Amino acid sequence: MSRRPPRRGQIIVISGPSGSGKTTIVKKLLKRNPDLCRSISATTRKPRPGERDGIDYHFLSREEFERGIESGEFAEWAVYNDNYYGTPKRQLDEALREGRSILLAIEVQGAAQIKKLYPDALLIFILPPSMETLKERLRRRGTSPEEIERRAEIALKEISSIDIYDYAVVNEEGKLEEAVKAVEMIISAQSFKLTPERIKGIKRAWRGDEV
Ligand code: 5GP
Repeated sequence: MSRRPPRRGQIIVISGPSGSGKTTIVKKLLKRNPDLCRSISATTRKPRPGERDGIDYHFLSREEFERGIESGEFAEWAVYNDNYYGTPKRQLDEALREGRSILLAIEVQGAAQIKKLYPDALLIFILPPSMETLKERLRRRGTSPEEIERRAEIALKEISSIDIYDYAVVNEEGKLEEAVKAVEMIISAQSFKLTPERIKGIKRAWRGDEV
């Protein structure tokens, strides 16, 4: 019998306020790690220019989304900025069954639900270096002053929920590569973690070897 535990897929949640650089980090991670796949969320917000249905999001009407909630289709869902966002459960279970790791870029209310449903999920929070940098990044994106203030407030609220996360990575100005490497390091360390399930598997395999 092999002593090597079977390949284990992980659920990796990445959250961070708007302006933390979370989206750029997620894109880089996916590009560099072909083993990772991304969960495609459902949302009721309207597509932005360039976004495609079924690739960036599954764009649903409110009725469709609410039907999905009722029939238990979502592993988690939340209302953010007056729109529904949710992760289809099927994608997660399929990935885990096939031993693939799946990345979820979701906000904090959803992250808390994922942790409850999948206690082994890895939760990583991306922090901007400071409130000033966060505002400056939003300004550079052409965000209006009112919108910047609103997002800054949301960011403070999100950061106050950091307790539920396993790791926090600061995305320093001009040091994107370091932040991506830190996240990669955390993900690979997690695959060596002795979770109850892994402990059981190792003990079973070694006992089997002895007899
Ligand atoms: P945006 O509208 O800018 O694409 O996303 C707004 C926020 O919703 C971001 O923080 C994003 O990470 C989060 N989000 C995207 N998909 C999901 C999801 O399926 N569930 C939850 N809870 N949040 C999501």
